[in-house]
Amino acid sequence: MAKVAFLGLGVMGYPMARHLAAKGHEVTVYNRTRAKADKWVSEHGGRAAATPREAAAGQEIVFACVGNDDDLRQVTTGPDGAFATMDKGSIFVDHTTASAEIARELAGIAEKAGIAFIDAPVSGGQAGAENGQLTVMCGGEAPAYAKAEPVIASFAKACRLMGPSGAGQLTKMVNQICIAGLVQGLAEGIHFAKRAGLDPEAVIQAISKGAAQSWQMENRYKTMAAGQFDFGFAVDWMRKDLGICLVEARSNGAHLPVTALVDQFYAEVQSMGGKRWDTSSLIARLER
Ligand code: NAP
Repeated sequence: MAKVAFLGLGVMGYPMARHLAAKGHEVTVYNRTRAKADKWVSEHGGRAAATPREAAAGQEIVFACVGNDDDLRQVTTGPDGAFATMDKGSIFVDHTTASAEIARELAGIAEKAGIAFIDAPVSGGQAGAENGQLTVMCGGEAPAYAKAEPVIASFAKACRLMGPSGAGQLTKMVNQICIAGLVQGLAEGIHFAKRAGLDPEAVIQAISKGAAQSWQMENRYKTMAAGQFDFGFAVDWMRKDLGICLVEARSNGAHLPVTALVDQFYAEVQSMGGKRWDTSSLIARLER
């Protein structure tokens, strides 16, 4: 069993830290809004720390799942950041969806302090975090990964080292690029079915056994057809993720015309009041 800290008890971090405690790891938690950390300790035991710096002292592994690059910088190298107190030989595992650039930058800073840094973004959403069934895509050095992987398994159904620092974030970018165009296609299909006077439920039942099948189709068609979006993976987060993909593509020369277009569609959904709506809300823009 490992001695660990978890920084960031949001929608994802809160249940991920719970799975670590349930597996018997000794967990210290930190959350910017202290009340959430106190609530977590009252439910799951362990200890709450006032800062990332305090939480990280003496831990074998420090996990984080915060919002974006700036937030990650704050909890690692900021004035009360975790890197200041982490021991040589310890490991920082970052589950934030962030840029590959910050993963490489923080890995470089960590290395100088004798700390290993693994970028480890996740997919599987809130349900995956709650059920301990996340997919984790990692970048970093193999020896540190080998030590962290059995602990990450507390909340993951699959975990894989994809390459050096940044490779986890790059893999997550591929994941988001694949989803963006697909959700728009699904939105157009359901929208078309309704306009054609077909029953969307019957249409999906017929076509979901064939080549058009997808996770989004199986898990989102009902709520899309009903115009319900008050759940799931927020449009604001998706725009952050697509922004990261588009910046990376500018530097590696990849062509992402559909991703760029869908990003603009999501900007329209935001201006319709859909900042916190699930990403399947692309259909709402077609049905305005
Ligand atoms: P969330 O519910 O908004 O939680 C964000 C967490 O980060 C909160 O604990 C927040 O603290 C903390 N935080 C933000 N900025 C901070 C800062 N500057 N300093 C310290 N703590 C800070 O977000 P989430 O849904 O858990 O998502 C977290 C990450 O996972 C994001 O990168 C997201 O893209 C990614 N992700 C999310 C999903 C999903 O379905 N939700 C799926 C895959 C990946 P407070 O409580 O004080 O605000």
